[in-house]
Amino acid sequence: MNEHDSERMRGLLRKVGYTLTPDEAEADFILINTCSIREKAEQKAFSHLGRLKLRKAKKPGLRIGVCGCIAQREGERIISRAPHVDLVFGTKNIHRLPQLIEKMIKTKRRVIEIYDDRERWQQFGCEIERDNPIRAWVTIMQGCNNYCTYCVVPYVRGSEWSRPAQEILAEIKDLAANGYKEVTLLGHNVNSYGRGLDQEINFPALLRAIDQIEGIERIRFTTSHPKDFSEELVEAIADCPKVCEHIHLPFQSGSDKILKSMNRNYTAAEYIDKVNMLRAKIPQAGITSDVIVGFPAEEEEDFQQTLRLIEEVQFEGLFTFLYSRRPQTAAGNFAQQVPNSIKQKRFEILLEIQNRISSERNESLVGTQQEVLIEEGKALDVDGTSGREYLLRGRTRLNKIVEFTGPPDQIGKLRQVKITKANRFNLEGIMLP
Ligand code: SF4
Repeated sequence: MNEHDSERMRGLLRKVGYTLTPDEAEADFILINTCSIREKAEQKAFSHLGRLKLRKAKKPGLRIGVCGCIAQREGERIISRAPHVDLVFGTKNIHRLPQLIEKMIKTKRRVIEIYDDRERWQQFGCEIERDNPIRAWVTIMQGCNNYCTYCVVPYVRGSEWSRPAQEILAEIKDLAANGYKEVTLLGHNVNSYGRGLDQEINFPALLRAIDQIEGIERIRFTTSHPKDFSEELVEAIADCPKVCEHIHLPFQSGSDKILKSMNRNYTAAEYIDKVNMLRAKIPQAGITSDVIVGFPAEEEEDFQQTLRLIEEVQFEGLFTFLYSRRPQTAAGNFAQQVPNSIKQKRFEILLEIQNRISSERNESLVGTQQEVLIEEGKALDVDGTSGREYLLRGRTRLNKIVEFTGPPDQIGKLRQVKITKANRFNLEGIMLP
């Protein structure tokens, strides 16, 4: 979500005359888009701000802005930690960036603007400068009403809010007209899409409508909450040929005690039931997930239950996080915080198990034929014939990266590739005629 916000802000900055520079020393304006999901990300943002203080001392005309989740949460308090900051704005003020910059320059004063109500969200439809010419992110909803006890999203992104379907469909039709082949629908809990809209629509119905858009070849979505992952959604995934059968379904813990304490509203058995329901209908489905290690009061037995769930489900890949206390969240005040040394040890054990499973899952694809959307290529110098052969790179429907050789005119196309080799994080193959 943050990366897509950055694309949006880049587009807005370009519109008001800024050009992007990869060289921080050359920049007249530096905008830090912050994330506060993990403590580490927050520490990194503040240490970057610390370094910028020195840069600004050497270049007084330099202006520094802070936006994103930390800005939304901290507002003016950012200034007490970093008085050299000129602009602070929240997650719901992105569309106001041109006006905020104008005000900052005209008044030569610091500008702080944090909206906290969703009525003022008009950020969709503004210019977006996308990172990738083939795959695009499309926000369908934002915010969350679930209040998992470790998560800052409801505090920094607000309550759940769905974007009208006609706006989403118009954006995707426009992307198709501009040559985009794949869209990833973004939301903090896409499964609850449609709640609160005047129009009667839910996420499966939205998927079915997007599947009809000509030119778009693939549809992905993230993130799904297991409690809202329904049979109706699985039916839609199975029925819509463009919807990839790769599901990111965070489980967070395999212990019912911890899941309850996290306020996740499902048990480990219910999670596994959802996985089985998906695989019964779509046997080739691939599942990735998020897991938190070292949540308060996690004991060895809870951790073992997490490992058992991982072995049972056989995820394609896992995003593994060490629990860190976040401001405003309930779990930040829980007793029985797990010592870092134990968290780290558990993290390493879990990673080793998942790395083995990921390698095995990839190995099982050797010899199979996979549909790959080719995204990029790099010229190979084969016997001095540089430019004819390319190392092409793309993704399977299960979102696995595949590399193979072929001509550059295949970039942006869907091709069948025979998998010849599996590595832990990618596959190698031969493009079929
Ligand atoms: S469902 Fe996801 S976004 Fe919402 S509170 Fe829980 S972890 Fe955060």
